[in-house]
Amino acid sequence: MKKPWVDQEACVSGGLCVNAIPEVFRFAGHGKAEVYDPGGAYQNVIQEEVIDICPVSCIQWLDK
Ligand code: SF4
Repeated sequence: MKKPWVDQEACVSGGLCVNAIPEVFRFAGHGKAEVYDPGGAYQNVIQEEVIDICPVSCIQWLDK
């Protein structure tokens, strides 16, 4: 199963992903976004509503 992953070194903490799909993304304690439930939304929704729109393109798919 492919899982989304946030490169927290690159994340600028704007919150787009957290606001768009709070079932999958949240802010970690240090203010960067993280994936806490990879299965919380359909992959195409994650792709179109978050990965394609993240301003610094720091969300990627991992194959496992
Ligand atoms: S959309 Fe990208 S830059 Fe913005 S909070 Fe999410 S991972 Fe970070």
